[in-house]
Amino acid sequence: MAPISIPGRREAIEDQRAAGGGLAAVFPVHNPRALLRSFGLLPVEVWGPPSARGDRAAAHLQAYTCSLVRCGLSFVLAGGLDRADCIVVPHACDSLQGLGSLLLDFVKPSPPVLPYYLPRGERDVDRAYLTAEIESLAERLARIAGRELDRAELHARLDREEQADRAAAALIDDRRRLGLSNRRLYELLRSREYLPAERFCALADSALEARGEMEAAGVPVLLSGLVPEPASVLDALDAAGACVVADDMACAGRRIYRACAFDDPLERQAARLLSGPPDSTRDCSMGARVAHLCELAERSGARGVIFFDVKFCEPELFYLPRLQAGLREAGLACLACEVDLADALPDQILTRLEAFVEMLS
Ligand code: SF4
Repeated sequence: MAPISIPGRREAIEDQRAAGGGLAAVFPVHNPRALLRSFGLLPVEVWGPPSARGDRAAAHLQAYTCSLVRCGLSFVLAGGLDRADCIVVPHACDSLQGLGSLLLDFVKPSPPVLPYYLPRGERDVDRAYLTAEIESLAERLARIAGRELDRAELHARLDREEQADRAAAALIDDRRRLGLSNRRLYELLRSREYLPAERFCALADSALEARGEMEAAGVPVLLSGLVPEPASVLDALDAAGACVVADDMACAGRRIYRACAFDDPLERQAARLLSGPPDSTRDCSMGARVAHLCELAERSGARGVIFFDVKFCEPELFYLPRLQAGLREAGLACLACEVDLADALPDQILTRLEAFVEMLS
């Protein structure tokens, strides 16, 4: 099977610029990609980046702030986002809300900073609130892009994002037959963080077309948490003989939203952002999260769940004890690891991963 060539972030950014388009730097987790695209902006997500280290941000943040925000702020201070046309900061947690305020009130980077609040619920009133937030975001984007929102264009962009979600879901569902290592699988899934939906779909289609009949061996595990960084954790899972067959990561599976049908594209965009699987950053109930993880494990045959979280990540760590208790009660083995994005994977975690996979085999 010919290897799939996955464009990198830099290449996607250069291509967008060469085509005359703009760039929106977006922080995790839930972002209105279709809305940004409808204003000619390519959303490029900022999960750290781990390479930024957190040193520059130390003067602005408490020592217990997560490394995702620390590295993100350092990257902004180093001018890493200066070429963006705007910086979008969703309120996924208190740390990101704090980052939005810091950027707006103190750091004042050259691109405009656009914070927005994501309600914690899926009631009609939550959707109405988020629709108003999206509308206000659209007005600010219109000023940046110098053009009005084209509602038909937004519907078309939403269609493409829904297609890309289906493609991502198909990759995870058929993961055993893709012939990809754990690291390669996540490179492909995470290319959605910076590729236009249509390019991601083309890549996913090539990977799905190249599927083999044989199912890959490996101890089946479910990966949960925020983001698989440092990415060497995926090599470690490969080396330990584990195969990630189901995903509940904030950067991947938790953003496979349901298709939503509303005449108003702003309401459709809002409904979509509230329709993902149960997630810690949306305050979903403990019961819903346990049920979702059990369902994923049952469907995929995963024998255990690995929580791979960022140190000091409040939303994730709040759930962890009861989530693990619920899963163990349901007969699923669990392992919880916490890392700093900017550090190498500690030996202690490598040993725990190896021992966990061996116990499941
Ligand atoms: S890692 Fe956790 S605390 Fe940090 S920005 Fe992400 S959700 Fe918030």
